[in-house]
Amino acid sequence: MSGRIARLAARVASGEITAEKRIRASFDRLQTGESGPDRINAFISFDYDGTIAQAMQVDESAVLRAGALAGVPIAIKDNICTIDAPTTCAARIMSNYRSPYDATVVRRLRAAGAVMVGKTNLDEFAMGSSTEYSAFGPTRNPRNLEHVPGGSSGGSAAAVAAGFAEAALGTETSGSVRQPAAFCGVVGVRPTYGRVSRYGVIAFASSLDQVGPIAQNVEDAALLLQVIAGADPFDATTVDVSVPDFRALLGDGVHGLVIGVPREYQPRGIDPAVARACTEAIGLLRERGAIIREMSLPHTALALPAYHAIASIELCSNLGRFDGVRFGARVEGSTPAQLMALSRGRGFGAETKRRILMGTHILQETDPALRIGARRARAMVTKDFDDAWGQGIDLLFTATTHAPAFRLGAELEPYEMYMSDMLTVGAALAGIPAMSIPIGATHGLPIGGQLMAPRWQEPLMFRAAAALESALL
Ligand code: GLN
Repeated sequence: MSGRIARLAARVASGEITAEKRIRASFDRLQTGESGPDRINAFISFDYDGTIAQAMQVDESAVLRAGALAGVPIAIKDNICTIDAPTTCAARIMSNYRSPYDATVVRRLRAAGAVMVGKTNLDEFAMGSSTEYSAFGPTRNPRNLEHVPGGSSGGSAAAVAAGFAEAALGTETSGSVRQPAAFCGVVGVRPTYGRVSRYGVIAFASSLDQVGPIAQNVEDAALLLQVIAGADPFDATTVDVSVPDFRALLGDGVHGLVIGVPREYQPRGIDPAVARACTEAIGLLRERGAIIREMSLPHTALALPAYHAIASIELCSNLGRFDGVRFGARVEGSTPAQLMALSRGRGFGAETKRRILMGTHILQETDPALRIGARRARAMVTKDFDDAWGQGIDLLFTATTHAPAFRLGAELEPYEMYMSDMLTVGAALAGIPAMSIPIGATHGLPIGGQLMAPRWQEPLMFRAAAALESALL
């Protein structure tokens, strides 16, 4: 078995194709037709000459040509720092920012011979579920341009779905890799919290943020994770556990695996086509020898409100540095306080402001019940998962989202938008690995299925995902 990326890297290594030629092919795709970059708006910045220069460097270096990602075009979400391009977080306040260093994940990609093909669009500071909250205009879903690609890593998912890049990096706080992957019909992975360095990733909510790969198939996602995973002295939240071979179990099937299907993840409002696709996927897993067990994660309903309380509190301190003095575009004022107020007022979009206000409000409440309650709820959600593993469940299977991609400009209420994370937020709070793979479509819009695994058990998760992927072929 070999995925697209491993095959491409092998061809570059053997000299059958040059990295430069492969990158030019990506560009041709980007520049032609209806699905061109202007329509989809997957990228915030794009440097044609710089990217060709990177590819030529790969071609000229025997070490890079031998890398696991030799010549592979990878798109990077624009909240991940790269030295050779702006890093904007899709925020006006950051629109002129250039990082003096590469994020650890980017350094690791470069060392493996990958070529960064551009910085992808996102909801401002990664807060959102549709990429409509970008200061650079919304991204469109390549499968149907009238629909959103999901978010916040919508540009990354769209770039992969449209073939502008072989794979991409996104970031997740509560579901920002898995949800857009589901909406765009690609694979998206949230690793175990602590598996991947966040050094050089602009923080949203630090107890939740993780970088994750988006790819066209399970094996490619596993390979990308292989390259970026592992402890980093620059990020104290990474854990020094050995990084297993994420592709080792890909061919092993699901025979004998106990897969739990939690009742609470089949909410009343679930789209019938999504429910049907899940039932079919579960049927395929069963046919392949998995033992399917209906079960309960009783505190699931607490996850979304707990997430919003915790994330808002954390983002308040993380965004404090964007004041026009330390970081961020400055708007002059007659006093320092006015300078900061004007810089923030002009620099932040409406959703970012809404969340800063929410976090500030929670922090100023003299009654700590909400803060304590949110932490307690998080512990209960985490314990639900631990209990499941304790009862012999190997993995969980659910839908990734309760509905397929909604229409662009649907103007959902903030609360409705937040519902997009209903099925992904639990894994984020618990710090467990989870991923989305395409399991069907309705009216041309992809449907994602989600697998969740115990901490550090990504190989098991990839194993079941690969089995499901091949059963669906
Ligand atoms: N939809 C989530 C939110 O708006 C996405 C956050 C994330 O995972 N970055 O908070």
